[in-house]
Amino acid sequence: MTGRFAPSPSGRMHLGNLWSCLLAWLAARSAGGGMVLRLEDLDPDRCRPEYCGQVMRDLEWLGLDWDGAPVYQSRRTEVYRQAFQTLEQQGFIYPCFCTRAERLAASAPHRSDGASVYDGRCGWLAEEERAELSRQRSPAWRVRVPEKTITFCDLLQGKYEEDLKQDCGDFILRRSDGVFAYQLAVVVDDGAMGVSQVVRGSDLLSSAPRQIWLQEVLGLPRPEYGHLPLLLAPDGRRLAKRDRDLELGRLQKEYTAPELVGRLAHAAHLIDRPEGATPRELIPLFSWEKLPKDDFVLQL
Ligand code: GLU
Repeated sequence: MTGRFAPSPSGRMHLGNLWSCLLAWLAARSAGGGMVLRLEDLDPDRCRPEYCGQVMRDLEWLGLDWDGAPVYQSRRTEVYRQAFQTLEQQGFIYPCFCTRAERLAASAPHRSDGASVYDGRCGWLAEEERAELSRQRSPAWRVRVPEKTITFCDLLQGKYEEDLKQDCGDFILRRSDGVFAYQLAVVVDDGAMGVSQVVRGSDLLSSAPRQIWLQEVLGLPRPEYGHLPLLLAPDGRRLAKRDRDLELGRLQKEYTAPELVGRLAHAAHLIDRPEGATPRELIPLFSWEKLPKDDFVLQL
C-alpha cells in the first residue's frame, strides 16, 4: 500500500492542509504502507519554487516523513504529453476555442459541487470552422467523456457516483497556454508513483470520477479513495490560503508541532483530549471508523 502527499506549493500550508497531510500519512503508515511526496507545481501563475522547500520543511517540522525523492510535476511535462497523445490517438481530445465568457454561457451550473458542465459545443465544429478559429486564438484541449456512470466506494463518504456526461461534461486536459491540467497530471502521477490510496479533502470528491475514468482509459490501476471532511473557518466558509491566521507560519509562533498534531488528532477522534502527540504515537490509534464525516470548525 502506498499513500501520498500532493500539496500545491502556491503559498504556506494552512491548518486544512495539515489536517489532510496528517491523516493521509496516518492512513498509510498504520497500514504499514509507503508514503510518497509529489509537489503539484504545474501552474506557473500560482506556484513558486521557494514554496516547495517550505512545504517539505513544514511536513518535517510536523513529524511527517515520506519515502524516496520528491516528485515535481513541473519536471514531468513529457510524461503528461505522452498520456495526452494516447488519449488523442483514441479520439478523445478536441480543441476548445471558447473564451471564458463563452464557456460560462455554454455551461449549465448543475454539478454537485457548483462547478459548471460544458455543453460540448466545440466538439462538434466543422473542419473549416476549426481551422478558422485556430487562426484567431490558441485553443484549450478537452477530453470528450462518454455516456457512462462512474461509481466507487469512498473509505469515508461511502458510495459516490457520477454520470460523466450529465454531471461532469467534457473537461479541460490542457490549457490554452500549454499547461497540462491537474486532472491529467494527478492520474498519470498516481499511476507512475504506485499510489494505491488517495486521502485528501472532500472538495476533491467530485474529481474522483473523472480521475477514475481517465485511469480506465489509460490502463492504470484504481487506487482506493478517502475524502476527508473539510475544516471550516468560524463563519462556516472553507479555509483558504487567505486565512492567514491559520497559516503554518503564524501557527508556529503559538504552538509546538505536538500541540498542533494533538489538536488535529483530537478533531479526528483519535484521542480523547487535545493533548500533545507526535504522528508516530498516533499510528496505532488510527482507524477510518473513528474519523468524522462532516465538515467542522476546529477551535484551536
Ligand atoms: N494539489 C491538490 C491540493 O493541494 C491536491 C490534489 C490531490 O490530492 O489529488 O489541493
